[in-house]
Amino acid sequence: MSPEVHAGGCVCGAIPYEISVAPALTDHCHCRDCQRSSGVAMATVVIVPRSGFRLLHGKTKSFEYIGDSGKPLLRHFCGACGSPGIHRHHRYAGPLGGASGEP
Ligand SMILES: [Zn+2]
Ligand SMILES: [Zn+2]
Repeated sequence: MSPEVHAGGCVCGAIPYEISVAPALTDHCHCRDCQRSSGVAMATVVIVPRSGFRLLHGKTKSFEYIGDSGKPLLRHFCGACGSPGIHRHHRYAGPLGGASGEP
């Protein structure tokens, strides 16, 4: 049985991606990093192994900084529309995203 594929991407469509594995974790994160990044009280994050994540085309811009934990965080966003959606967290091996095109 082949895995279910979920499509996601930014608002303008410049950086579409697919996730072809089951999430390792789905959660609402209330940390200050996610609040500042999303502009709201919490971010819904989906953690998947990197092997199950595929950027279909386009190129993200990224911003690396030291999070409240004191460890580096790398956040990716669309350079055209500014949508966040993918980032690599020091605690997890895979990308995190919250912009699924199939709610
Ligand atoms: Zn975009
Ligand atoms: Zn967080």
